[in-house]
Amino acid sequence: MIHVVLFGPPGCGKGTQAKILKKKFGFIHLSTGVMFRHHIKCKTNLGKIVHYYLNQGLLVPDHITINMLNVEIKKNISSRGIIYDGYPRTKNQVSSLEKILKEKSLGKIDVIFYFSIEKSLLINRLLNRGKITYRDDDTDLITVQRRIEEYNKETACIWNEEKWKNIIVNVTATSSIKNVSLFIENKIMNFF
Ligand code: AMP
Repeated sequence: MIHVVLFGPPGCGKGTQAKILKKKFGFIHLSTGVMFRHHIKCKTNLGKIVHYYLNQGLLVPDHITINMLNVEIKKNISSRGIIYDGYPRTKNQVSSLEKILKEKSLGKIDVIFYFSIEKSLLINRLLNRGKITYRDDDTDLITVQRRIEEYNKETACIWNEEKWKNIIVNVTATSSIKNVSLFIENKIMNFF
């Protein structure tokens, strides 16, 4: 089972690429953002709790996010591969992911695609996406800025341990959707 992490700031194109890869390779796509928005829409108990964090552009506390993600991993233990989109976002989430993969003998994180893009481009991309998708957290400038701050503060450094260096692949997120997906697909082919 292959574990592919798509990593980068909000608005860098992870979600778009995850959908393409899911179709191409038949992998499971786990997006914590999509899961949270689904809970909010369906007004579940979890949705009521996390609503505040998403609206503010803050990270949802680790214990909630980790539990939710682990349930999904356990549901998909016989899949060919999993694409993680928006997870992990903290060091705790990284170690929890390593732990559950080990406990369930599901392999390890195989590759981390690290999307890089200038901050000034991100804000416009997010605000434009908000106009199309009506995502509350994409339409308000303050929330958008807070999400980028959260990324810089909590998330950007999570792979700084030496052991990840060999599996990080840098992606130029400003290339076209097609070029980015071809680049990623080629790298993933090496795992078969
Ligand atoms: P996204 O769709 O990935 O941009 O996520 C939208 C929002 O969901 C984020 O701004 C956070 O409030 C929350 N969220 C998504 N993934 C995580 C995560 N791994 N850890 C904490 N909060 C998350």
